[in-house]
Amino acid sequence: MNIHEYQAKAVLKEFGVPVSRGVPILKASDAEAAAKELGGPLWVVKSQIHAGGRGKGKFKEAAAGDKGGVRLAKSIDEVKTFAEQMLGNTLVTVQTGPAGKQVNRLYIEDGSDIEKEFYLSALVDRETSRISFVVSTEGGMDIETVAHDTPEKIVSFSVDPATGVMPHHGRTVARALGLDGDLAKQAGKIVAQLYAAFVAKDMEMLEINPLIITKQGQLKALDAKVSFDGNALYRHPDIVALRDVTEEDAKEIEASKHDLAYIALDGNIGCMVNGAGLAMATLDIIKLYGMEPANFLDVGGGASEEKVTAAFKIITADPNVKGILVNIFGGIMKCDVIARGVLAAVKAVGLQVPLVVRLEGTNVEEGKRIIRESGLNVIPADDLDDAAQKIVNAVKAAA
Ligand code: GDP
Ligand code: MG
Repeated sequence: MNIHEYQAKAVLKEFGVPVSRGVPILKASDAEAAAKELGGPLWVVKSQIHAGGRGKGKFKEAAAGDKGGVRLAKSIDEVKTFAEQMLGNTLVTVQTGPAGKQVNRLYIEDGSDIEKEFYLSALVDRETSRISFVVSTEGGMDIETVAHDTPEKIVSFSVDPATGVMPHHGRTVARALGLDGDLAKQAGKIVAQLYAAFVAKDMEMLEINPLIITKQGQLKALDAKVSFDGNALYRHPDIVALRDVTEEDAKEIEASKHDLAYIALDGNIGCMVNGAGLAMATLDIIKLYGMEPANFLDVGGGASEEKVTAAFKIITADPNVKGILVNIFGGIMKCDVIARGVLAAVKAVGLQVPLVVRLEGTNVEEGKRIIRESGLNVIPADDLDDAAQKIVNAVKAAA
């Protein structure tokens, strides 16, 4: 689960991480009070969307002006103007995709005088089964580019969970960033604080880009991007409360209501499969035959007819879906339950695109009979390979 920058900063602040003072606002009419509260003389007006690259982003609407999604303001009037320009308009960044994201919240921050910008992130590293840190002197830049062009400018290390952060980790960071004296001390402290926050809140990823030195000699997190492990959210009602569903895919929200494992993808073939492994294999084989899946969807082991119906409705509601492949290997899941669920959904929402159904396993004959006798225009398939070829051909023929 992702949260906004201002929320991430509030979480990090609980652990002592230095951040700027700021006020989140939802309405442009609140901009003046926020600016006055902070006092100036420099403010930053920051778009709050679940995507990075805001500073270099561009708004779609001309009324939003030609500056990006993060703007420095030198007066209260300027804060007001920027807030009016940005709120409600669509910001396009390298991470939002061409459709962009509507800016519904702003964070007005006390502006900092920047001496230097660094990069720092932490993530769960599957290779070492530890939390790894990545630091670089090249802050404010796209870290993938730095990693590609100048890998020597990236320093990475992992932390042993038995000891936690040790003084030598702090020294590693200080050396990597070229800091000594008091700044080196501050760096050690921030690493320990970030690690504590990461573990306590079950974070998955934490990115501070940039981590800055101010002209006054303070190390500070100027940006913060945090995501949490969804499987651990039950332990963190305070984090769940930060969820902003307007930032999430509507189809994924609907799916989570029905406890379906659904991830929206960019292709045209909607998939309904049971079992994550079979679902992955189904995505692979669709690609093998030259098309792209529109989603990952695992309806799970013991799905009810209602759940299957909900899943099918989510798939058909996606305008990108030009064909549907139902691929079920019935074990605990019974083929007749799948068949009834699909029929119920088609009855409710109709069927505008080709549908290939491959059923195998428990109650397969009953499942096939239900589909056959439904009068639906369903293309039956015998195995996974056959099913993938049939749906790809059917979509191409319909196009
Ligand atoms: P991002 O573009 O989404 O990563 O948003 P950031 O929060 O990282 O802001 C983008 C850039 O705006 C930073 O890299 C800074 O160069 C600049 N910026 C942000 N806050 C301040 C500030 O308080 N003072 C100054 N001078 N620049 C800032
Ligand atoms: Mg940033």
